[in-house]
Amino acid sequence: YFDVSRPWLQRVLAGEGRRTLKAVDGVSFRIPKGTTLSLVGESGCGKSTVARLVVGLYRPTRGRVLFDGIDLEQARAMADQRRRMQMIFQDPYASLNPRWRVRDIIAEPIRAFGLIEGGAAQQRRVGELLSQVGLSPLDGEKFPHEFSGGQRQRISIARALSSNPEFLVCDEPTSALDVSVQAQILNLMKDLQRRLGLTYLFISHNLAVVRQISDRIGVMYLGRLVELAPAETLFEAPRHPYTRALMEAIPDLDMTGRQRIPVGGEVPSPISPPSGCPFHPRCPLANDRCKAERPALIPARGTPETVVACHAVEEGRDGAAFVTMNQR
Ligand code: SF4
Repeated sequence: YFDVSRPWLQRVLAGEGRRTLKAVDGVSFRIPKGTTLSLVGESGCGKSTVARLVVGLYRPTRGRVLFDGIDLEQARAMADQRRRMQMIFQDPYASLNPRWRVRDIIAEPIRAFGLIEGGAAQQRRVGELLSQVGLSPLDGEKFPHEFSGGQRQRISIARALSSNPEFLVCDEPTSALDVSVQAQILNLMKDLQRRLGLTYLFISHNLAVVRQISDRIGVMYLGRLVELAPAETLFEAPRHPYTRALMEAIPDLDMTGRQRIPVGGEVPSPISPPSGCPFHPRCPLANDRCKAERPALIPARGTPETVVACHAVEEGRDGAAFVTMNQR
């Protein structure tokens, strides 16, 4: 996942300094059943690490993940609990075994969890799953290379659904696809959520993509959650300067009447994150307090159901400062 050409990552790989890298720190959220929470942020912000922690691919060094009230450590030990949560990966090219027919790829979790006895019944179920994701039951006889990128992601979704899960963790499931195909996959996922009552944790670097599918959106920066809000509230009234900067990067988002916030620079190295607020080296609103004190995630005054980690928002100086910048 990480871009190994990055100088800071090369230093980590070389073991320089042997310091602890906190990929994720202090992130806390709940996802009500049948809803979608999306996590967004630039590459390296920790969102994919959260996804892997949530499905138990990584173990947290501190803190807990609860799934339906059960600690994930215990849940992973129970086959029926593992069946209830599945993951869809970014790259449908890499996540499907090229030597297996599609029917065997989709049937594998059914066999692994012992869900359906008998070959004929399993094949009927595979046919149903293929129809559910918009493919033909006859496609089960083909191999992955015979499909387009969008079709392969449909096969990945069918495989994830084959264990009758209730919770899907989707790690950038559309980022390897063309824009028009992305929209088709997002529509399919929304439709499946409605029909099957699924709950999603959706990971993306693209705010425009998650807008379509999310009930709530969390924005991450350098391993921390900096803003969490209902999707429409986030687009109508983004509060954190970093969220505002991400909005600016959406080409066709109507910014009429909104104050723009230019943000330059690169995401700092997580090996030696900046003091205080980790966003301060890039933030036009930073002051001395920001350099010294890390802001807590607290309710944003004036924006219901939004929590934000920013001293400027807490002090009520975010709006005034934007006006000043725009007038320059
Ligand atoms: Fe900017 Fe300070 Fe808010 Fe951090 S706490 S985002 S540096 S204003």
